[in-house]
Amino acid sequence: MGALEKTPRRLGSGQLRCPYCGLPQDRVATLEYDWVMLEPDMAPLAHTVPAEHRWIELSDGRVTVYGVCPPDQFQRCRIEHRLACPAQPLPDLWPWLTALRGENARQTERDEPEPPPPPAQWPDAG
Ligand SMILES: [Zn+2]
Repeated sequence: MGALEKTPRRLGSGQLRCPYCGLPQDRVATLEYDWVMLEPDMAPLAHTVPAEHRWIELSDGRVTVYGVCPPDQFQRCRIEHRLACPAQPLPDLWPWLTALRGENARQTERDEPEPPPPPAQWPDAG
């Protein structure tokens, strides 16, 4: 349990430079017959990475999003370079947290105390 597999042989992958920051990134085939650019030499524990951003390597060298929830305590994963790229804006990693922040922002607006009423003024009797 939790045994780490040896690094699988990589097929059809190579490194390309990021067009934004110029750093190398691993070009890896996905199960969906697409490509994903992964951060090289980076394998954080899966549970420290937001669920939709965990890529795990399969035995044939392809990668797929690790959908097991909750993740295995010892499972390591890969992350996309764009999450680590200094030249790209960070995507919305925790959508529910962003939604909560928006909700809280609306709540603070609602709870804003009413400005004190202006001092009563009698109508000018002329
Ligand atoms: Zn980059």
